[in-house]
Amino acid sequence: MILPKPDRVPTLDFAALQFLHATLRGRWTLSARNRPLQRSQRLPMTKLQNTRGPMTTAIHGGEAPDPTTGASAPPLHMTSTYVTDQVAGFSAHDIGEESGYLYTRWGNPTVDMFERKMAAMEGTEACLATASGMAAASAIFLTFLSAGDHVVVSDVSYAGVAELARDTLPRLGIEVSLVDMSDLEAVAAAIRDTTKLVHCETPVNPIMRLTDLAAVSRLAHDAGALLSCDATFASPLGQDNAALGVDLVMHSVTKYIGGHGDAVGGIVAGSAELIARLRLEAGIHHGGILSPFNAWLIARGAATLPLRMRAHEAGALEIANWLETRDSVTRVFHPGLASHPQADLAARQMSNTSGMISFQVGSAAHGQELAQQMIDRLEIIHYAVSLGHHRSLIFWMETEGLMETSFRLNGPNLESYRAFAGDGIFRLSVGLEDAEDLIADLTKVL
Ligand code: PLP
Repeated sequence: MILPKPDRVPTLDFAALQFLHATLRGRWTLSARNRPLQRSQRLPMTKLQNTRGPMTTAIHGGEAPDPTTGASAPPLHMTSTYVTDQVAGFSAHDIGEESGYLYTRWGNPTVDMFERKMAAMEGTEACLATASGMAAASAIFLTFLSAGDHVVVSDVSYAGVAELARDTLPRLGIEVSLVDMSDLEAVAAAIRDTTKLVHCETPVNPIMRLTDLAAVSRLAHDAGALLSCDATFASPLGQDNAALGVDLVMHSVTKYIGGHGDAVGGIVAGSAELIARLRLEAGIHHGGILSPFNAWLIARGAATLPLRMRAHEAGALEIANWLETRDSVTRVFHPGLASHPQADLAARQMSNTSGMISFQVGSAAHGQELAQQMIDRLEIIHYAVSLGHHRSLIFWMETEGLMETSFRLNGPNLESYRAFAGDGIFRLSVGLEDAEDLIADLTKVL
């Protein structure tokens, strides 16, 4: 098809626009145009006492009309460097509160805006944006742990974090205890004098098991250790991590926060002091910073997160309830279901149970066969990894394979995993499509 030519675009008279702008806003001067934005013009990270509701915070948190143009939407600053009028030092240690922007790995207005928004949404003083969720996890481990330190890590977690904890940390001389974080006695027993960090994930990927954050934070803090939590499955709407005692909240913002399956990123939110350490070590020295473009895209997604999370939760509950009625489905796990083994904890701790469901269908061979049918026959739900997008995604995770590669569990830890996953589970990320269309799609195979 030949597309019609667009109407001629009128030429912009830049000088006239400048004049108009100067008249309207009274603050544009040519000499100011080349002046770098000073640190004093950078907005404070967040107000800890945020009295605004979650929807207002998601939209306005961290944002302000652009000081130079008045643009209402946050501008995208795709620049690696900045023209400066200061004779500044060349080390990250020379960056102070008064420094302007010098180099994007040290700071970028679009990334700053996204970090302020995420800090506001998590109710923390500060936030560091990272290149991916894995960069957020490794930032926490590699900033707060050194050779000889001990860390307690959830025995089940996102596979990349599981492998980082099992392979990389011991190679660096960091001692790791892998613990079922739903078992408070096991957490208490694992903590040692040298424990510097307890790292959990709730709800945990892929089995939807929960950690009691208030209880685990007490155990960690009594031992002088920090608590970090991967809250990717919950999103910032799922639980009030900071109020429950989490020192460092991390998210793969590739998931619910971005929400549209088009950009990879991560964040860690916490106190100004902890985030300053992370920024210097993980951001500036290890260099795993978020691109301004991804920050801009993901901030755009974050603005509608509260609305989307309500729809994800409602859709997931409808589908989870339907799955429970299917003869072909043997167990369904979603924190909002009365049948979830930790339904009481979910009710106490979670304000949104998200769109994540896991379900069993019997033997591993049957699961494998069904997975192939899904690849062949599903029309709406994509057979794909990842989660938290507006599109629904499903993926088969066989227990034996995961045990060999990522989790390597045995004894009671393996039993606890199997209580949720049996021989394997389908992980379903319920998107924002109409629930009846998703059910019609699933009816073809279940
Ligand atoms: N944490 C959880 C719970 C995840 O599900 C994932 C990815 O699936 C990650 C961390 C890693 O995030 P990314 O893929 O953005 O590196």
